[in-house]
Amino acid sequence: MHEYSIAYDLYATTRKAAIENKASHVKKVTVEVGKMTMVNPEQVVFLFNTIKEDDPLFTTAILECNEIPPLTRCSCGYSGNEIFICPNCGALPEMVKGREIVVTSVEIEVED
Ligand SMILES: [Zn+2]
Repeated sequence: MHEYSIAYDLYATTRKAAIENKASHVKKVTVEVGKMTMVNPEQVVFLFNTIKEDDPLFTTAILECNEIPPLTRCSCGYSGNEIFICPNCGALPEMVKGREIVVTSVEIEVED
């Protein structure tokens, strides 16, 4: 399952970052999910919550998935959200954003 491996990756990446930063708790993880990944953000959140359940570092952690629209660029100078046909010249535009899943922020609590 595609979403499961994504959710697990997010968990593993965040966990590593939290430990490296001596976190006592992970509070919030914010992720940008490109629309063209065809990933269901709600399912990722659900699976993330299942995976992190037994991890004391993550008891109150929230995963926020923000879907971001695709961004394309064409050799004629067009830049926008059209993914199949450039509205200026009819060529196939190049996709510059929308195919990736990026962790944009991790909020942690550090014990002192
Ligand atoms: Zn064009």
